[in-house]
Amino acid sequence: MKPNQPNVSTIAAIATAPGDGAIGIIRISGPKALVVAKKMVRFKHSPPQKVQTLTRCSIFCKGKPVDKGMIAIFKAPKSYTGEDVVELFCHGGWRLLNLILEEILKNGAKLAEPGEFTKRAFLNGKIDLTQAESIMDLVHAPTLQMAQSAFQQVNGELYQAIVTLKKEIGFALSMVNASIDFEGDDQVSLDRKGIITRLQNAYAQLKPLVEHSEMSLLIHHGMKVSIIGPPNVGKSSLINILLKEEKAIVHDQEGTTRDVLNGAILIHGLRVDFFDTAGLRETQEVVENEGVKRSFIAAEQSDLILWVVDMKKPNYQIPDSLFNKKILLVFNKIDLTNFQNILPPHVVHLPTCRISALQGKGIDVLKEKIFEILIGSKNYKVEDHLIANLRQKQAAETAAQALKQAIEKTLLGEKEEMIAEELHIVSFALNEIVGYISPEEILDEIFKRFCLGK
Ligand code: GDP
Repeated sequence: MKPNQPNVSTIAAIATAPGDGAIGIIRISGPKALVVAKKMVRFKHSPPQKVQTLTRCSIFCKGKPVDKGMIAIFKAPKSYTGEDVVELFCHGGWRLLNLILEEILKNGAKLAEPGEFTKRAFLNGKIDLTQAESIMDLVHAPTLQMAQSAFQQVNGELYQAIVTLKKEIGFALSMVNASIDFEGDDQVSLDRKGIITRLQNAYAQLKPLVEHSEMSLLIHHGMKVSIIGPPNVGKSSLINILLKEEKAIVHDQEGTTRDVLNGAILIHGLRVDFFDTAGLRETQEVVENEGVKRSFIAAEQSDLILWVVDMKKPNYQIPDSLFNKKILLVFNKIDLTNFQNILPPHVVHLPTCRISALQGKGIDVLKEKIFEILIGSKNYKVEDHLIANLRQKQAAETAAQALKQAIEKTLLGEKEEMIAEELHIVSFALNEIVGYISPEEILDEIFKRFCLGK
């Protein structure tokens, strides 16, 4: 995509959050951005003499003044999207903003899709895909730590790391290719030692990215923890005490929780979403049965399961399907008894924690335990966690796997073509991370998650 080509549409949207506010910003981007804006603004003194400055103006709809505000003009390519961009700073009444937006659309712009401004920034080479993806993470970051990790992506730190790796792989590949092209010529025989050093260097940089990636996703997006167990063990009491609100109905009658309830808290600056679920038991009751099904779905989608055990009536019949997840055994009702029988062999390896949801005992220790299981030390370094989503994680894993193969093949003295094949896979996967190779459907999938005006 080339910025400001006449065949490219001009798009517009309200860039500030829906609802009334003191100020509202409307963004216009595209080849006709200035023409569209000029049709509806008048300047008190003179039109802006400089770009990227704010100039006072009146804003007109259907030829009548409706607001006094400011205008900022950004000329391509020095703008967010890389195209000509106009931003109108108006009073932030939602109706007023929509009225002005309608006029802009009448003047020749089209309504932007969610994420379309950022998509254009990506297509115009202003940012790579890792930066584009993390912009919404930054917008929605609930804590300082999560904002920091999103910001390092927006700042292009993963991009830089991948560019460095790409250079190493590109160099190694050109050495291998030269040796293929001049096969039989001793002067250009493959310097295997040199290549191995290069590839091992690259692997040493890629390996920690991949090794930390699971934890990186939790740091970037928070953790999901589901509270699972038979009826009446205290699951609802536990979510209530964790969230410090009466979210779920607590009752000694079985089967009171039918739907999955959830709420989030912060533990050491990271978001943890808890899911209270229907008690697992065989039931003929249709609604409760649906609740049980939903419990399994919640468990499947979570990073950790808290299997709650009533100390008075311990039940360790954890369904087999849950054992592919991390499980923490939470012994509840320690106010009634703190005596624990020997654990059955199938759960003896699981971490444990003792609480009284009724009295709020052991809850801080439980939170620490959750953090320890999922993140490890609370002194984790944000800068060690550059991978921000599953797409990046999978591509980085593919690259690391192929790079390892390339090293082994070089060490084993395999043919250059075989090494080149692996290096092509590495290169392709690295390109995928930064978005150099991204099918349109993947891009659409990524950008449709954005809010309007971004
Ligand atoms: P759920 O069905 O697993 O969600 O269990 P609830 O949270 O609804 O609790 C069932 C019953 O156990 C209620 O009467 C609670 O007051 C009681 N209960 C929950 N936690 C504790 C606890 O730590 N100690 C005692 N003594 N009772 C508890």
